[in-house]
Amino acid sequence: MKALIVGGGIGGATAALSLNRAGWEVEVLEQAGTLTEVGAGIQLSPNGVKVLRELDVMPALDPFVYQPETLSLRRGKSGREIFNIPIKDIAEQRWGARYLQVHRADMLAALQVTLEARVPKAFRLNAKVTGYSQSADRATVHLEDGQNLDADLVVGADGIHSAIRTQMIGPDKPRYTGNFAWRAVVPMERLGELAPPPSGCVWAGDRKHAVTTRLRGGTLANFVGVVEQADWIEESWSAEGSKEQALKDFGGWHPVLRSLIENADNMFRWGLFDRAPLKKWSDGRVVLLGDAAHAMLPSMAQGAVQAFEDAFVLARHLSDADNVADACEAYFKARINRTTRIQDRSAKNLSLFHRRGTAAQVGTFGPMWLAGRIAPNTLLAPLDWIYGYDVTKT
Ligand SMILES: Cc1cc2nc3c(=O)[nH]c(=O)nc-3n(C[C@H](O)[C@H](O)[C@H](O)COP(=O)(O)OP(=O)(O)OC[C@H]3O[C@@H](n4cnc5c(N)ncnc54)[C@H](O)[C@@H]3O)c2cc1C
Repeated sequence: MKALIVGGGIGGATAALSLNRAGWEVEVLEQAGTLTEVGAGIQLSPNGVKVLRELDVMPALDPFVYQPETLSLRRGKSGREIFNIPIKDIAEQRWGARYLQVHRADMLAALQVTLEARVPKAFRLNAKVTGYSQSADRATVHLEDGQNLDADLVVGADGIHSAIRTQMIGPDKPRYTGNFAWRAVVPMERLGELAPPPSGCVWAGDRKHAVTTRLRGGTLANFVGVVEQADWIEESWSAEGSKEQALKDFGGWHPVLRSLIENADNMFRWGLFDRAPLKKWSDGRVVLLGDAAHAMLPSMAQGAVQAFEDAFVLARHLSDADNVADACEAYFKARINRTTRIQDRSAKNLSLFHRRGTAAQVGTFGPMWLAGRIAPNTLLAPLDWIYGYDVTKT
């Protein structure tokens, strides 16, 4: 059985590894001329690390990870701690795997190296897919250069602007969520005393928040700054912005955040888009995963991790399937409730981080501050269903 995977991003590469492990021949079609990821970090919660471990990606990734000491929430301007809960020593025991932070390029490179060790030339570059067709026993993808390729299965892992999804569900635009994100990666050696804490740290404020992490063994600092803005008027969904603009957005915020912006070589702005949950993720032998299926806000740090889970579950349903289309539908049924719940939780988290005015902030963060001191477990317990989940065992 052969699968063509459309999209050589984090989701597509994981789908190829999972399907290959399940005995499928795989080829990944990537529109770009090289396999690259944006210069930004990504947090890998234990539920995602379990998939990477099972797919044997960790030997290639481990040299580049950073394992944060804590998960923390602070006030953005004062830097005052709301809670700071140790996770480094408890993640494995509580959730079954480590909590990690990595550079996206390191993540993609680890997936690529692991896949190519098993399937040399797994990636076909400069292969932009424009659509698909299918018969009872084959699915075909159409490339922009006029070629047609066929297989037993087509996986649309082509991201939030998925061409496969558009053909399957119909043309609609992803929803602009009313927020955009600043992103920057800065060498730690430039930051001195103002290095971000060794934490997955959220800095909450009025209508905006920031997240700081460390990457590449702790040699890089990562900054994400999410700001409410009514419209996204840029033509592209990501664009370079100026430090002056970013400093204006985070002017008056804690010096750690201002220093990250001042020391960045480039600041990028991303419009944050999501989609309402879809009613189906497959059409016969063609199936969606990752952002193509369920784009979400980044405020639970689960988009890529959910793509890992999708890939693993899809491959399991297809490993001994008599009927590819039925297996794809069963995969959708196995995944839709969890991804919808996490989409919803991501949106709620964003509004929690953006509380307006002192009264709302004190009302929200006061009880969290108290819980962090007297019962930190009550702050970790709501994460158990996400981080403790193990798709490799269920
Ligand atoms: C600010 C921010 C912070 C985030 N932080 C986290 C985090 O900490 N943890 C986490 O788990 N997630 C995080 N995410 C979410 C995560 O980045 C995405 O969910 C993830 O990258 C989705 O992977 P994907 O492979 O589905 O899509 P993509 O990464 O978008 O990859 C799609 C690939 O398909 C290719 N492609 C597109 N169209 C075609 C075509 N027609 N033909 C061929 N190829 C095509 C593209 O070139 C690309 O390589 C964050 C997102 C943002 C915006």
